[in-house]
Amino acid sequence: MAVLVTGGAGFIGSHLVEALLERGEEVWVIDNLSTGDLKNIWHLFENPRFHFVRGDILDEQRLAETMRYCHKVYHLAAAVGVKLVVHDPLGTLETNVRGTENVLKLALRYGCKVLIASTSEVYGKDVQNDHAKFSEDDDIVLGTSIRWGYACSKALDEYLARAYWRQKGLPIVIARIFNTVGPRQTPAYGMVIPRFVQQALRDEPITVYGDGKQVRSFCWVGDTVRALIGLMETPEVEGEIFNVGNDEPITIEELAIRIKEMTNSDSEIIYVPYECAYGSGFEDIRYRVPDISKIRQAIGYEPTLNLNEILERVIAYERRQLMLARR
Ligand code: UDP
Repeated sequence: MAVLVTGGAGFIGSHLVEALLERGEEVWVIDNLSTGDLKNIWHLFENPRFHFVRGDILDEQRLAETMRYCHKVYHLAAAVGVKLVVHDPLGTLETNVRGTENVLKLALRYGCKVLIASTSEVYGKDVQNDHAKFSEDDDIVLGTSIRWGYACSKALDEYLARAYWRQKGLPIVIARIFNTVGPRQTPAYGMVIPRFVQQALRDEPITVYGDGKQVRSFCWVGDTVRALIGLMETPEVEGEIFNVGNDEPITIEELAIRIKEMTNSDSEIIYVPYECAYGSGFEDIRYRVPDISKIRQAIGYEPTLNLNEILERVIAYERRQLMLARR
């Protein structure tokens, strides 16, 4: 029996597919290539255990034709990110809610176990208190602006999956993925590290949004993938929610300074008001760092790369990309 990765042509998805193939699995990918890219998986087509279906998770029949060969589903396909939901709220909600419902319904029909890729966005506003790590049992506060539709749709996915587990006995596990970084991550949807690195390598201004005092922690994509496989392969964690990330915090301002230094860049660091970056009424999360004690305890997960090591790798990757583009 094979493993299905929905959204397997995306950034995290393609790294997950590579890791699963390395483990000897037969892997199917379904992806509509909306934000995913064939470039991310070209190198896998020569592997006879790799199968690709261009299709949408909203297309129930196509999804069914793919899922019937599989016994495990990593469900990563989604309309990703806050920027997208602001531009296409209806499409985002439909894909994330109805798409996930399709996956769960068919998983029940074909006897699949499902890992739901959720997001740190579901924690909503960081109202608890300053500088508290997010932990899985925290209450959630979402706002009313359309930006929160993304978090709301992913939170609903979590409730749906847990309801299928509780009422129908469907084996599921939920991963709340925090900021993840690595090769193939496109800066097109705003992701801060590839953006800053590209800006620094081109000696363009490094654009810090707001006052730059907002805090994030960044996880190497290889560590994220290891965590996802670990959760899928541990029957004891079924029905549970886990943070997946790295808990080393840094302000975005410090991040800009560090990237400028590490690239020996002449870039100027500039501060851009949020309304210029995201439009009016945007609310950023001031402090987003995961508490990873639950996943540590459950599957022995530990991030293997610290931020400097992650940045070194991303800088080397982006340098190569820039050289190739200039040839
Ligand atoms: N950010 C920034 N400059 C950029 C892109 C992003 O200052 O050019 C900020 C963004 O406002 C946020 C942080 O960096 O506070 C992380 O942004 P990203 O989109 O990577 O992830 P998320 O907002 O989902 O944590």
